Amino acid sequence: MTRVVAKFGGTSVGSPERIRHATKLIKASADKGEQPIVVVSAMAGETDRILGLAGEFGAGLGDVETDVALAAGEQVSAALMALALRDEGLKAQSVMGWQAPVVTTGPAGAASIADLGTEAFEALLADGVVPVLAGYQGIDETARIQTLGRGGTDLSAAALAAALGARCDIYTDVDGVYTTDPRIEPAARRLDAVSHDEMLELAAQGAKVLQPRSVEFAKARGVPMRVLSSFAKPGEANGTDVVAADPIAEKRLVSGIAYAREQARIALLGQADTARVAPSVFEALAEAEVGVDMIVQAQARTPGVANLEFSVAHRDLQRALDALMALPGQSDIRSETGLAKVSVVGAGLRQRADVARSLFGVLAGADIEVKVLATSEIKISALIENDAVERAVRALHSAYGLDQV
Ligand code: ADP
Ligand code: ASP
Ligand code: MG
Repeated sequence: MTRVVAKFGGTSVGSPERIRHATKLIKASADKGEQPIVVVSAMAGETDRILGLAGEFGAGLGDVETDVALAAGEQVSAALMALALRDEGLKAQSVMGWQAPVVTTGPAGAASIADLGTEAFEALLADGVVPVLAGYQGIDETARIQTLGRGGTDLSAAALAAALGARCDIYTDVDGVYTTDPRIEPAARRLDAVSHDEMLELAAQGAKVLQPRSVEFAKARGVPMRVLSSFAKPGEANGTDVVAADPIAEKRLVSGIAYAREQARIALLGQADTARVAPSVFEALAEAEVGVDMIVQAQARTPGVANLEFSVAHRDLQRALDALMALPGQSDIRSETGLAKVSVVGAGLRQRADVARSLFGVLAGADIEVKVLATSEIKISALIENDAVERAVRALHSAYGLDQV
């Protein structure tokens, strides 16, 4: 029997009506002779609401008690989904992260999955019961509840699919992966298929339709993954396949445009010896758990002196500045906020270094200043003013022909 892990995101379980609709899709899968296993997110807005409550007491993402509170969001929706499936005439049972168990490791608020027990699921499936796993949560080796980072239910689903030898269907509020966020660019087109590498890069650069680590996991474990709409009627064909390597994707120069808001830039000016300074700077930032993104080292006016610049997520800025100010000899630290990152992603970029140059032209033509530019094998990212994000996405989307079929 084909096993299918069906993951439903926040909007897809956002109300009793949406949960009921999801059960129709699950029922249709069961009626086709498939063996559905469900994974759910918290109801839309719930995770932010709980984070706000924890914030009232000075706790943010990363506090162990915040994780305990957050996990309650998925506990509620898993139970409601099990009840709704029962109402639909199916046998169903909720499974919390600690019951599976989903064994986690790493920091609170951003844990990863070290192991996932399959016994409970196998027993339920053998009895014809649909298991409903609460996503985004697990327990660490000291039996404390942990969460997997924002969007982490995608990772729960990918890991469960890998453990049970299932396909992984990600039901969300759009009908697949688009050339860019369809909420920003209405001319965005749905891709029939996207390669793991491209999806990983799009997700890492901010396309939140899939959590980056879930794609990494699917790639490493060879889990077939598909993104599709939970708003469709049962049997309606739609979606995007995330595949190992897609010959069509390989032929495309650019596959998509991603963006991430809430970025900041840090500049360490007047470094006389960057070869010595840079390692200690990045070590200090790593210790403070600050993810450093785009890095540029540029010659300053004074010979032998360089400026070291990089971008960080805005939420990490204060932690980064504190860590840098504790370093000896850093007297001129500047920072800039209100920035965003826009990225062009495509497997075809491997062969085309000229795209970086044309990106400057496209953004300049839209009157957008590029503050920092960074390239990797299949992406080019530019740091720009936050206010210019939507214009930048649309300008690049059209310049690279993504609105053309
Ligand atoms: P869920 O709650 O189902 O996990 P998310 O909000 O995490 O859903 O992800 C779906 C959203 O991702 C869409 O509503 C869309 O606005 C956004 N998105 C960003 N980039 C893309 C893209 N390239 N393709 C499709 N959706 C995208
Ligand atoms: N509820 C969590 C979040 O909002 C996890 C998820 O939805 O995947 O980030
Ligand atoms: Mg999501």
